[in-house]
Amino acid sequence: MTWRASVLTLYPEMFPGPLGQSLAGRALADATWSLDRVQIRDFATDKHRSVDDTPAGGGAGMVMRADVLARAVDHVLEQRPGVPMLAMTPRGQPLTQGLVRELADGPGVSILCGRFEGIDERLFEARPIVPVSVGDYILSGGETAAIVLLDACVRLLPGVMGAPTSGEEESFEAGLLEYPHYTRPYEWEGRRIPEVLRSGDHAKIAAWRHQRAVEDTRLRRPDLMERHGDAPGHPPSGARRENEGK
Ligand code: SAH
Repeated sequence: MTWRASVLTLYPEMFPGPLGQSLAGRALADATWSLDRVQIRDFATDKHRSVDDTPAGGGAGMVMRADVLARAVDHVLEQRPGVPMLAMTPRGQPLTQGLVRELADGPGVSILCGRFEGIDERLFEARPIVPVSVGDYILSGGETAAIVLLDACVRLLPGVMGAPTSGEEESFEAGLLEYPHYTRPYEWEGRRIPEVLRSGDHAKIAAWRHQRAVEDTRLRRPDLMERHGDAPGHPPSGARRENEGK
């Protein structure tokens, strides 16, 4: 079944953009997923087709109008019953691999992309829209955030990635960063691949990888370590790799 993405944007020509290449592009071409681009401006009603207005209370910039956005959102909700509607905003819940997996397991996703100073807050009160942030920094628009979200979802769709298990083995899936990777040449600029990875001893390799995942997470992302304090009990997923040690 096709996983259906809809993007509500003032810049539909930004899509599929990078999602038209590589894994996501191939999956789009073979209808593993579909992409609908909805021009928000088509739902404006005045003769200037305006979608924004000055901020109530004063201040810089412009704010996207609730009435225009609601018409666009209602149109998509009607066309796609049961598909969750998200809005990209730095005020939203942080995008996590957990949310990505949940979305990828569902029928698809609709994404409202903000521009200017953002979206009239009343829209979030009046419609079932989940605000989502891609991180604690400010982008110029929601489109690149939507591309990030879609890329993360599409690679999890059945058949998109080469190895069926590799998606379950990566950073965050077990609440940890992934262990570090190495490949040939064995020696490069005087540095050797860790000996254990050449041992052929799968249990030892798995234990080493798990240990590195825990260590690196503790060092680089103490916040993750705290949040997933008991996750290190997960089996070291790398042990399942077929081409290991070759
Ligand atoms: N004035 C707003 C930022 C507006 S940026 C604020 O300070 O919160 C314009 C648009 O870019 C937003 O409406 C949103 O759709 C998108 N955007 C910017 N940063 C984002 C982020 N970290 N995550 C998701 N969307 C973001």
